[in-house]
Amino acid sequence: MMSEMLSVKDLFPEGQIRFIAGPCAVESDQQIDTTAKFLSQSGVRILRGGAFKPRTSPESFQGLGEEGLKLIRRAADRNNMLVVTEVMDEENLELVGEYTDIFQIGSRNCQNFSLLRKVGKSEKPVLIKRGFGNTIEEFFQASRYISMGGNEQIIMVERGIRTFEDSTRFTLDVSAIPVLKEKVKYPIVVDPSHPAGKREYVPSLSYAAVGAGADGLMIEVHPEPEKALSDARQQIDFNTFAEIYRKALNIREAMN
Ligand code: PEP
Ligand code: MN
Repeated sequence: MMSEMLSVKDLFPEGQIRFIAGPCAVESDQQIDTTAKFLSQSGVRILRGGAFKPRTSPESFQGLGEEGLKLIRRAADRNNMLVVTEVMDEENLELVGEYTDIFQIGSRNCQNFSLLRKVGKSEKPVLIKRGFGNTIEEFFQASRYISMGGNEQIIMVERGIRTFEDSTRFTLDVSAIPVLKEKVKYPIVVDPSHPAGKREYVPSLSYAAVGAGADGLMIEVHPEPEKALSDARQQIDFNTFAEIYRKALNIREAMN
């Protein structure tokens, strides 16, 4: 069951912290369903998982395609969750739209202006991730390609940028949170997983984001992270997620 006319303001209420979580990629019914069940019981409402994966190497696992869309839709329905999954190109927009509640625009497509215009005409919310080579201003302008089509249901995600620093996979730009909050009224969400690159850094980046005023966290969670078919090194297990969840709520409450 796909929900009609979702409001991102309802999904990410002012002054609170909400979670989007799930594996990097949908791998099997068992993997996505186990994850959805755990997350749903924890209080997470939005399930993530890629079916079409933008991989650096064409030889790497590219995602299950339509089969992956079916699996994540089913897992979300069984566990009363919403789906967010990436649409990589205009060619698959209609197909992805048949299964997802929220379109994800990945970092590599942040300035794919024709794709942005297309989702700007859609009735579904759009979660857009900052291009890792984009300034905050460029990211803001990208969001305008969506809103100018009439779609104001936008979630903006800071996911780290390329810098000279190579101890982590990307550099989380915490400053993007207050700067974006001056420019837009959309929820600002932080993905700590991709900048961390290693699972042991994910908790710290999560807490920094909440402390800086993020409205949500988007975290990669896998039932057996070390066996994941993509981003195995950065995905966290259920116990670690439960700890981050609890502490993030505490930090948010302390701030209020
Ligand atoms: C993702 O979140 O699935 C992803 C591919 O991340 P990014 O586009 O930020 O690299
Ligand atoms: Mn990933």
